[in-house]
Formats: sequence, C-alpha cells, structure tokens
Amino acid sequence: MIKVGITGGIGSGKSTVCKVFRVLGIPVFEADSTAKQLMNTDPSLREQLIQLFGPAVYLPNLTIDRKYLAGIVFSNAPLLRKLNEIVHPAVRKAFDEWFLIQHSPYVIHEAAILFESGFYKLMDKTIMVVTNENERIERVVKRDQITAEMVRQRMKNQWSDEKKIKLADFVIGNNDNELIIPQIIEIDKKLKANG
Ligand code: ATP
Repeated sequence: MIKVGITGGIGSGKSTVCKVFRVLGIPVFEADSTAKQLMNTDPSLREQLIQLFGPAVYLPNLTIDRKYLAGIVFSNAPLLRKLNEIVHPAVRKAFDEWFLIQHSPYVIHEAAILFESGFYKLMDKTIMVVTNENERIERVVKRDQITAEMVRQRMKNQWSDEKKIKLADFVIGNNDNELIIPQIIEIDKKLKANG
C-alpha cells in the first residue's frame, strides 16, 4: 500500500480534490484537522501549548482557541515553527497508526505544508494542487469571511507554488477553467498501476 501526499497553497482546493478521491474509495487522512483535534484531546500537547502561548490559548470549554492562535502564529514565523515542532510528531504518530488499519491500493495524506514540514519525504508519491493566487484569495475570503490581507499573510508562511511543483510527482490544476475529475481519474489509474 503506497502513501500519497496531497498539498497545495491555502484555498487551492486540496480538500475539494480529496473529496473526489474519497468517492473513488481511497482513504484520506486529514493532517490539519487531525492536528486541531489532537490539540483538544492530547494532554501532553495541551501542556506544551499552554507553556508556549499561555492559558488563553484554550477557551473556557477547553477547546483550542484557533482564532487566538492564528492571530499569534501567522504573523510570527518563529512561533509558528515552534507550534509545528510540537504538533507534527503527534500527527505523524496518528498517521502511522491510521495507516496500519487501511486496506486500499494507496492512501492519501492531505496537508497544507507537506513540503515545508519535510513530511513529503515519508510519502511514496506527492500531488500538488495548483490554483492562481487571485482565485485562491477570492475563494478563502468567501469561505472563511476573512480579509484578503489576512489570506496574503497566511500565504507568506507557505512556499511558492513553483518550488513545490518541482518536488511533486503529479500536479492538478484547479483554476475556474479546469476540470479536476478527469485529472484525478488519470492519477488514480497511475497510482493503482504502481501500487
Ligand atoms: P485550505 O488550505 O484553506 O484548507 P484547501 O486547499 O483545502 O484550503 P478547499 O477548502 O478545497 O481548499 O477550497 C477552498 C474554497 O474554494 C472552498 O470553499 C471550495 O468549495 C472552493 N473551491 C474549490 N475548488 C473550486 C473550484 N474549482 N471552483 C470554485 N470554487 C472552488
């Protein structure tokens, strides 16, 4: 069973692409939502996050205050790196455990910073979802009700598409004028032939 990493810049359409893979019966591990979930449930992570960001990083109902956290880390690269250093080992462990119980020709690991984190080195193949910057900003502003400036700020913490495309085995174009389903079916065929 091979491991396939999917990534792409903020708002490129990673989750949308993964929805299609799921319909094809492929198991998808969502690294970002797993990270959020672990921040709420893993006592060791909770302790480390409180040490780093103070108790205000958790809401009174003991769930992580994502707005507060985003407000700090997206404008402070060293703190963002520290956050990742704390959270990534826990996500990696969760992925390894999840992988052991899957039955499929291949599985997908979806992550916003697959290349930046070095996690791609643990994958057998990688897919990069590419959408032009203006379209991505427009989609995220609409989806998350945040300003274009906030989206641009988050983009600064991600590598350029050019750099990531060079490392990717497959590229899926998801601009307004492109159809993702035929591209996904083609990649699925190739992965099944390899797997
Ligand atoms: P993030 O990095 O923020 O998690 P993402 O890469 O997972 O984002 P999606 O959430 O899949 O991106 O897509 C961003 C938004 O754009 C969503 O609201 C989604 O419905 C929309 N979207 C995705 N693909 C298209 C498309 N081809 N045309 C129009 N809207 C799209």
